Amino acid sequence: MALKDAGLNIVWIDKATFPRDKVCGDAIPSNVQRVLKTIDVSLNEKFLQQFIEKVQVEGCRFVAPDKSSFDLTFVTKGHAAKRLHFDHFLFDMANECNSHVTFIGNASVELIVNSATAVTVKLTDGRTIEGQIIIGCDGANSIVRKNLAQTFIRKKENIAAVRAYYNNVADLEHNMLEIHIVKGYMPGYFWDRKINPMLALAW
Ligand SMILES: Cc1cc2nc3c(=O)[nH]c(=O)nc-3n(C[C@H](O)[C@H](O)[C@H](O)COP(=O)(O)OP(=O)(O)OC[C@H]3O[C@@H](n4cnc5c(N)ncnc54)[C@H](O)[C@@H]3O)c2cc1C
Repeated sequence: MALKDAGLNIVWIDKATFPRDKVCGDAIPSNVQRVLKTIDVSLNEKFLQQFIEKVQVEGCRFVAPDKSSFDLTFVTKGHAAKRLHFDHFLFDMANECNSHVTFIGNASVELIVNSATAVTVKLTDGRTIEGQIIIGCDGANSIVRKNLAQTFIRKKENIAAVRAYYNNVADLEHNMLEIHIVKGYMPGYFWDRKINPMLALAW
């Protein structure tokens, strides 16, 4: 979207098709709106007006193991929405904004070769795509990083996280995130909010 007026022919490759889920806590902090505006002011307006799957998040309630709690109210409100929906919204916006964008879904990148004149992307199905510039937005296990940047994730600085959605979580009638610190799971935490009560654990 940020490149929509750049005069480029853009090929967008993803091993998934959309809508697709993504492991995420689904919080959309307030600064996301600043980023959307930087990309395109109308994108932020569409996020506010047309993206109906979100809820506003007005603050955060921290709950200690003894169930005592305190609330922080956000000065600038954030949002929460399932990544399934948020990423699909962004996907639609990106496809809409430029006739020079081609999406190739269900296409896993296997190898990237960079030469002085071009970048060649090889897909697992045998297809190759050649371009002048490559932008890697392929997540934590980025094949672009592995092939081109030669940098490695430092495992000692990693943490693992688990995400699951739960139904029938009661007493979430306010527009606050809740973070629950529970004995036996520290330094992990549980967190939830009205839209889709969930559990995330990190340690
Ligand atoms: C448990 C957990 C909770 C989190 N909670 C939050 C939160 O509440 N709020 C928040 O803002 N962030 C949260 N994050 C972080 C957030 O999910 C990531 O920072 C964000 O998704 C990274 O975006 P990305 O576009 O770089 O990668 P991704 O969102 O991972 O997207 C990468 C894309 O690349 C595609 N892809 C990958 N490999 C290939 C390949 N070889 N060929 C073709 N396509 C490929 C994938 O299909 C995918 O669509 C959380 C992360 C975790 C793990």
